[in-house]
Amino acid sequence: MQLKYLSGYPKTLLDQVQTLISNKTLGNYLLQNYPSPHQIKTNKALYHYTIELKNQYLRQSNPISKVVYDDKLDVLHQALGMHSYVSRVQGNKLKAKNELRIGSQFKHAPPEFLTMIIVHELAHLKEKDHNKAFYKLCSYMEPNYHQLELDTRLYLTYLDKFGELYE
Ligand SMILES: [Zn+2]
Repeated sequence: MQLKYLSGYPKTLLDQVQTLISNKTLGNYLLQNYPSPHQIKTNKALYHYTIELKNQYLRQSNPISKVVYDDKLDVLHQALGMHSYVSRVQGNKLKAKNELRIGSQFKHAPPEFLTMIIVHELAHLKEKDHNKAFYKLCSYMEPNYHQLELDTRLYLTYLDKFGELYE
């Protein structure tokens, strides 16, 4: 079985995840650690939450014009996999605009995973690539960043295989 959200992680970890999937205990693992979803349901609430985080850690960085849940976003390739600057044609000028799009999988996620993905996107305001400086910035904003990114990938794996985690 292929674990597309977890490519690059060590085989021992993948084996453990595979076991959780075949035993149907991946959901229990997630629920034990992340018992309930967050309440940031609207784009407006999402925007305010993001701006609060930005003001706390990255006040000097470029302003953000918009933050929205996007059900067409491919989280693996457009968010966790690579950076997500939006380039748009405005008039006849191609202009980079800081618009954050958050995959709609995060709408019903635990608060920790929403924070993780926002921290990830905010870090891209300063670092385009997933390099050392990028992850350092993520860990500065969220000290538990690496564990949360892994658990978020487990959550996305769960959604793919079993559907919604929370009733
Ligand atoms: Zn990224």
